[in-house]
Amino acid sequence: MTTATMPTTPVSVAARTAEDAAPSAASEGVLRARAAHHDEGTEHHPVPAPRVLLNDLPLDGPARETVTRGRAEVRAALRGEDPRPLVVVGPCSLHDPEAALEYADRLAAVRRRLGDALCLVMRAYLEKPRTTIGWRGLLYDPHLDGSLDMEAGLRLAREVLLAINARGVPVASEVLDPATPAYYADLLAFASIGARTAESQPHRALASGLSLPVGIKNGTQGAVQTAVDALIAAREPHSYLGMDADGRCSMVRTRGNRDGALILRGGRATGPNYDAASVADAAARLREVGLNPAVLVDCSHANSGYEPARQVEICREVLLRQRKASGDGASSPLRGVLLESHLYPGKQGLPTDLSKDGGEALRVSLRYGVSVTDACLGWDDTEALLEEVAAARYCAS
Ligand code: PEP
Ligand code: MN
Repeated sequence: MTTATMPTTPVSVAARTAEDAAPSAASEGVLRARAAHHDEGTEHHPVPAPRVLLNDLPLDGPARETVTRGRAEVRAALRGEDPRPLVVVGPCSLHDPEAALEYADRLAAVRRRLGDALCLVMRAYLEKPRTTIGWRGLLYDPHLDGSLDMEAGLRLAREVLLAINARGVPVASEVLDPATPAYYADLLAFASIGARTAESQPHRALASGLSLPVGIKNGTQGAVQTAVDALIAAREPHSYLGMDADGRCSMVRTRGNRDGALILRGGRATGPNYDAASVADAAARLREVGLNPAVLVDCSHANSGYEPARQVEICREVLLRQRKASGDGASSPLRGVLLESHLYPGKQGLPTDLSKDGGEALRVSLRYGVSVTDACLGWDDTEALLEEVAAARYCAS
């Protein structure tokens, strides 16, 4: 072995680690390269432990009742014990708390009116997975200026979720970073593992430890088996390195989560998968491995080809198909739908470099109540659609 190919000696590794970890490396609360595997430029910005925010912004009163009741309703819908379809509806992402709460107010009124026919839960997505790069969601970058003020984002995320729950509307969110649910999962009635992370072991382990129902999506290319495998994994106990409520590094041991659902969202390679044969195939795969055959159809994303208006016909088709099956005495594995909807239709682009073109100037120039991620249905079309599918269910009973 030549000198050039010789491995670094343990001595030099230890020396470098000690040097990087020296207190002199700390400046203004930012700790540089504290972990041995990070390069010198990597920064560690301490944030409060979950317990700090849970104490400051506790779940109590009407919001607590909403979460408890919401989880029970979602569980019953997924198990087929409640004939009402689960309808998860709301913006692709929340970027403006004021618009989110206006949406929640409107949905609260619809829930009161149509609650006998539909189990309505609001999409309140705070962490956005990206195919490449882009704004990561309110929790990571609440000021939309690239400053990534996660401490403010974690707090704001909790405040918004509490306020929606306080209005009597249960919420659903995608859990993306395995560490962040410790700050807000107590406020969710339903969690989703997205198409980009359904194949990831840490996300499967995360799902196995959540004390709430979890929907897992087929992969971005359309592979349904990815979601089936994820649900098999999530039902079992797992152990992983994580954080406790006080922010201590811990070995986390989960018990397994049996309240899972498979979400069909279409795929880049396969195209849409909301048709009857795709739903039946997904259910058969779940039954084969002893899982509850609970299937949800995401009417957006690759099912709609990212054309928001197409969600209307997809939602109509799958829910009316489900109603027909139950009218015929058959039990349908289709337990509900997901819709992307905001106060106003469509979407608006965000600048690529938010640190240059973001912040206050951007926030005032954005159109109120319009999505900044995937294009959405507007409120009027959403309300009309919910009225229509609810009325159709009344006719069936
Ligand atoms: C979403 O729900 O906005 C999303 C990103 O979904 P998917 O994981 O299906 O792409
Ligand atoms: Mn989306």
